[in-house]
Amino acid sequence: MIAAPNPSAPDIAVIGGGIVGLWYARVAAQHGARVLLIEKRTIASGASGGMLGALMPHQPTGWNAKKQFQLDGLLSLPGRVEALEAETGLSCGYGRTGRLMPIGHAEKRRQSAQWADGATVHWPDGCAWTVEDANPAPGWLTDAALTHGVNRDTLSARIDPRRLTAALRAALETDDHVTIRENTEVAGIDADGTLTLEDDDTINPGVTIIAAGIGSFPLIDPENPARIGRGVKGQGALLQPAHPIDPLSPILYDKGVYVIAHESGRIAVGSTSEDAFDAPDTTDEKLEAIIAQATALCPALEGATLVERWAGIRPRAEGREPLVGPLPGASSVVLATGGFKISFAIAHLMADAAVGFALGGRPEGLPEAFLPEHRLKRRRHPGT
Ligand SMILES: Cc1cc2nc3c(=O)[nH]c(=O)nc-3n(C[C@H](O)[C@H](O)[C@H](O)COP(=O)(O)OP(=O)(O)OC[C@H]3O[C@@H](n4cnc5c(N)ncnc54)[C@H](O)[C@@H]3O)c2cc1C
Repeated sequence: MIAAPNPSAPDIAVIGGGIVGLWYARVAAQHGARVLLIEKRTIASGASGGMLGALMPHQPTGWNAKKQFQLDGLLSLPGRVEALEAETGLSCGYGRTGRLMPIGHAEKRRQSAQWADGATVHWPDGCAWTVEDANPAPGWLTDAALTHGVNRDTLSARIDPRRLTAALRAALETDDHVTIRENTEVAGIDADGTLTLEDDDTINPGVTIIAAGIGSFPLIDPENPARIGRGVKGQGALLQPAHPIDPLSPILYDKGVYVIAHESGRIAVGSTSEDAFDAPDTTDEKLEAIIAQATALCPALEGATLVERWAGIRPRAEGREPLVGPLPGASSVVLATGGFKISFAIAHLMADAAVGFALGGRPEGLPEAFLPEHRLKRRRHPGT
């Protein structure tokens, strides 16, 4: 029998109940740690509460450790999701749909051939990148977009962010190792790792994992959060098509616009990428432009009913790479944040790595560029 987590002294405190924090809590608990998950609002109420869920690989040229890490994430996620679904009886809406990207000009066609070659070198058997002239999905992708052909890959997939986070939550709620505290904000972290909550209550975890999305940056450097990272707003929409679609239709991606068929039969479209914004959670005419572009790309969206408009703020760490590893100057604090646009593909591996650090190891396979020791100066604590 496992001792229930002592709420004021857990082995591991995870700050933030988004996709990253949820995977951390799960992996830490699977390692036998007593975990306290602290969430300012409610689970998945931040960037992870959206509806896109694209799992798309980087271009397979200029190969580096980050691309390998993301590939490992894409390949290992289905097994992790399958285990979660078996445990909870809940579907996470994963589907290996592949992706189509129309080629708009001759130079891009030349580059596309390089990407196809790169995939044969870097991707495993069963995952292909081809450059095609005929439309592989007539009626789903408009013929008009194929001026110079279309890139097709069979590695891309989609997941339903809300179903996945609901399943992770359900698994955590039935795990004796885990306590979830919602509507609880961590106001600060002392040099010795003590957490101070908004109501001045304190918690003394063995290790703290900061997975608070854009809320991570002020926790890491309260005086100058912008040196750690910033938020990039995104807007998306969920639509009910006028006619039934194949929910395994390939992701369409063109000029920053995604069209994603989901298990529910609905279609998610996105996303804006806004560095400057007034309100974090409002949608505006920029979303109308995205919906119009998506409808021009995907005839199945014609006459679709708008179900929901949504906006969130992606956590983008300075230097663009995620930050994963011990915080310099505070060895009992591990960072896990800044997944930016690819969090859903890599959050479970970020979790493996951060829990590895929390348990005193140095995980293999984590790109050096993700390590805070290479990116951040020693932490300045408030008042020091
Ligand atoms: C429109 C849009 C489309 C996107 N599409 C995709 C996509 O297709 N594929 C993909 O992989 N990614 C996509 N992303 C990015 C992805 O959603 C994010 O990278 C990811 O959700 C970040 O997860 P997170 O757990 O780091 O942060 P969040 O989900 O923001 O979670 C952080 C949590 O921490 C809590 N918190 C903050 N501060 C504190 C504190 N002090 N104390 C306690 N709790 C705190 C917050 O309330 C929040 O719930 C998209 C993002 C947007 C906005």
